[in-house]
Amino acid sequence: MRTSKRPRSVTEPGRLVNRRAKSRGWQGWLRVRLAYNRCQLAQTMKILLSNDDGYQAPGIVALYEALRGIAEVDVVAPEHNNSAKSNALTLNAPLYVHRAANGFRYVNGTPADCVHIALTGLLGYRPDLVVSGINNGANMGDDTIYSGTVGAAMEGYLFGIPAIAFSQVDKGWGELDGAARQAREIVQQMQAQQLLGTTPWLLNVNIPNMPYEALRPIKLCRLGRRHAAERVIVQESPRGETMYWIGGAGAAKDASEGTDFHAIAQGHVAMTPLQVDLTDHDRLAYWAQTAARLSTGMAGR
Ligand code: MN
Repeated sequence: MRTSKRPRSVTEPGRLVNRRAKSRGWQGWLRVRLAYNRCQLAQTMKILLSNDDGYQAPGIVALYEALRGIAEVDVVAPEHNNSAKSNALTLNAPLYVHRAANGFRYVNGTPADCVHIALTGLLGYRPDLVVSGINNGANMGDDTIYSGTVGAAMEGYLFGIPAIAFSQVDKGWGELDGAARQAREIVQQMQAQQLLGTTPWLLNVNIPNMPYEALRPIKLCRLGRRHAAERVIVQESPRGETMYWIGGAGAAKDASEGTDFHAIAQGHVAMTPLQVDLTDHDRLAYWAQTAARLSTGMAGR
């Protein structure tokens, strides 16, 4: 970017450019105006990065390293693993923010807490994009309801900022470099295609654990469905008490063509646009009738 010794207007740079340009005739105006536009385009993208596995997880470290070359990245992430915390906010305890040696901020809260406090006062600016991940394991189908990775991204989306959640399909961080490179390319394209700074959107992306070169192209899909979760695991604690552990997620039930499960099975990067509105629009008419019946039944009261 060109530097100038003249003081710059912070609040109205466009007006300042216009004033300077007008004093040089219309050709000068054009030249300065084009330079100004280039500066605007070249402005560094600002990203808020979070996750649900905790600020020390290899997935967020790899994603940070991948994104820092193309953006100014601030990390605000949970101190500990917060998988399956969804959109939970901590309302009954104070939150503390600490800064790690590598510059990452970490919070004794949930993924949504991190994004919430970052956007409502901690950062002091509005990022162009909220990125979450890369998660240790898939977030496909019904997983997205529980996912803290999606929850962090969704919190950004609820504040009107484009947001994207990245997950690796298999746990264990295999081929993490490939996933981080793929994630960076997606973010880079979002900026190149000028999809930031427009209407906010929320994307869920799952990446197969494969070398970058082996990944098949992005496939846009709907969410599949899972069977109900497995049985609760019951154990006895060393003190003789009964302990219950939430069982594993159910296997895929709807993995038909067009779903994220199907795309991943074919080696594609799966991308699904998400919405927050839980209204069952298809059943609104049915429930309107049913609700009328219920009202009639309650009329005598
Ligand atoms: Mn997780």
